[in-house]
Order: sequence, then structure tokens, then C-alpha cells
Amino acid sequence: MSDLAKRMSLIKPSPTIAVTDKANRLKSEGKKICVLAAGEPDFDTPDHIKKAAIQSINEGKTKYTAVDGTRELKEAIINKLKRDNILEYTLSQICVGAGAKQVLFNLFMATINPGDEAIIPAPYWVSYVDMVSLFGGLPVVVECKQNFKLIPELLESNITEKTKWLILNSPNNPAGIVYTYDELKSIAQVLLKHPHVNVVTDDIYEHIVYDEKFFTIAQVEPKLYDRVFVVNGVSKAYAMTGWRIGYIAGRSDVIKAISTLQSQSTSNPNSIAQAAAVEALNGDHSFLKERTKIFKDRRDFVVKKLNSASGLSASIPQGAFYLFVACEGLLGKSTKSGKVINSDLDFAEYLLEDHLVAVVPGIAFGLKNFIRISYATSQEQLEIGCNSIIKACEMLS
Ligand code: PLP
Repeated sequence: MSDLAKRMSLIKPSPTIAVTDKANRLKSEGKKICVLAAGEPDFDTPDHIKKAAIQSINEGKTKYTAVDGTRELKEAIINKLKRDNILEYTLSQICVGAGAKQVLFNLFMATINPGDEAIIPAPYWVSYVDMVSLFGGLPVVVECKQNFKLIPELLESNITEKTKWLILNSPNNPAGIVYTYDELKSIAQVLLKHPHVNVVTDDIYEHIVYDEKFFTIAQVEPKLYDRVFVVNGVSKAYAMTGWRIGYIAGRSDVIKAISTLQSQSTSNPNSIAQAAAVEALNGDHSFLKERTKIFKDRRDFVVKKLNSASGLSASIPQGAFYLFVACEGLLGKSTKSGKVINSDLDFAEYLLEDHLVAVVPGIAFGLKNFIRISYATSQEQLEIGCNSIIKACEMLS
């Protein structure tokens, strides 16, 4: 008899972490692996943010804080949401947690009853489906093959009386799509007809946008304000993935429930990381422009390179630091050792084992026959990785 709870059968380990673990294992065996699977910027946390953390240690800010975050950080979040997103919140509408991941987890734990449905446009970030399932919810995965974006007709046709959530993520992981103002407006038009549907918008890549301007749905359609929960954090924009600070803003009854859950699980997020996050949100943002320019140059390089590989095709993403590359053109081909590539999983395995490049298969994000490439790594690694992928494609017959 297994000692594990039945609910454990509803979730699996994060596939992106699994790929990174496998790549690291091969590295420890002495193999030179080029990892294009990272979900974090390769830049360091800016110095002014590190200094704020060191100062907070020296000032003794090393004790428990309020469960839902310090007043200082909640005020910095309120100012940020007003400044960047033209959204007004009060202190009771904000909860800070250990990353966007934890606040999303708590949001679903606090709101999903068995049988509730959550509409998840695919390709999606890997954790949404597992989180919804863990609490007995039913993920309604909507494949978005048209530019990887949810269109109003698809939303409308997937709403039922059991729909509790629509999960939006822009810029998106894994395809880097960014919803325009008009696209969000037309999604909002559908939602206005269905008052029982709530929206969680995962804005974690807000600051990594290229040719588009970022909008979040509550800003575009103020009538949805009470139904929208904005999730964001400092991981990606400020290169602070290890600090673990994310936050959620929305209706105070739900925020209070999330805070209650946190009070019985992790308590407050790390006090020093909270002080650093205050500086991140209130301090100098000039480095963002430079870093986004570097990401954009890398994006252009990788798109051009991979589109020259036979059997691969990539469109130009408008945000985040990922490329979702179609590999359908390779299906049915064989490797030198006679193994047939029947899926994106086979292709990703072939790239890792025969050509030492780690990428994540698209099926992990709900759309098969794609691979996700992360360009959050050095130009040198990108050149090595892209050249190996091009060679790998050429060697298939
Ligand atoms: N949301 C998306 C779309 C992500 O890609 C990630 C991390 O990869 C997260 C949330 C988690 O962010 P955090 O580090 O704040 O938990």
C-alpha cells in the first residue's frame, strides 16, 4: 500500500525542472551540455537591490513579518500597480508570497471546489494545470493554434456554468505572445456576458516586452475590476528568481483567505527578500531598458538561426525570453542510429542525448510538435546551441 495521499496522483513534477535536472546530471557525468531550458534571466540581481537586502540584515529586519507582507512592501506594490497599470488597490487587497507560484497556488486552493472549471489557453505555463487539478478543479485546456492567442470565439465556446477561472498570461511562457489592448478588450467583452467567470492574470513577464506595449485586462476593462486577480512578482524583471517574492492583488475577501492559508502554511515570505523587493519596485529601473535590448537582440539572433534549420519554424515573440518552435516538419525522420522522431518528446530527447542541447518539449506546455527554447543565456551559448540544433536537423533523414 502506498503511503501517499490520492491527490498526489493528480500532479507530476514540473517538466521544465525535470529537463534542467537531467541536463545537470549529464553535466556532472562530464558532458558539455548547452542548456536552452532556463526559466530565469542569466543576469544578476542589480546592486542597489542587493544593497537594500544587506542593509535590512544590518538593521535587524530578520524577524517574522506580517503574514501577508510588510506594510512597506504592500505600499510599494500599490504604488507600482498605480504607476504602471493605472490600477487602484488598498492594503487589504494585496498579499505577498514566496513567488508568483505560491500566490497562484494559494489562490486556487482558496477558491476551487471539486468540479470547478478553469479555462487555460494552451500553450500555457506548466504549473497551471497541475495546481487546478490538485484542488479537484477541471482544467479546460483550449488549444490556441492561431498565433498562440486566445480568441473571443474560443473563450465563449468553452465557458460553461461551472467555469470559475480564466487564466491569462501575457507576455506568455512558453510562446512569448503579448496580448494587445484590442485583443484584451475583445476577451473582456465575452467575460462581461458571463459574470460568474473570474480572471487571474499572470503578469510576471510584464517588463520584458519588445515591440508591443504591455496591458493587463483590469486596466483595459475597469468593469471587470472585482473579478480580476493580478499576479506579479520580482523574479523575472529584476533577476530575483532565488529571492522568492511574488504578490497578488484583488478583491479583499479572497485576499484575506489567501493570507489565512499562508498563516497556516509558510507564514510570511522571507523578511530580507521583502526589503529587497521594496527597493526593486521603488528604486531605479533604468537597467530594465538595457536588459530588454539584450534579450531582443538575442531573440532576433535565435529566430533567424532556427528558421534556417530544415524542418523548424519559429514566429517572432513579442515578450518574455522564450521561443516556441514548431518541429512538425521533422516528424517521421530518422536519426543516424535509426530512431524515428515521432514527437516533440523524441526530438527533445535526440537533441539532448545526441547533440547535447537541452530544450523543453512543447507537450509540457499543452501543445505538441513544438519545442521551447529559452534565450536567457549568453550569446556564446546561444550560438553553440543553435548551431547544434541546425546540425541535428540536417543529420535526420
Ligand atoms: N508564471 C509564469 C508564467 C512563469 O513562467 C513563472 C516562472 O517560470 C512563474 C509564474 C513563477 O514565478 P515566481 O518565480 O515568482 O514564482
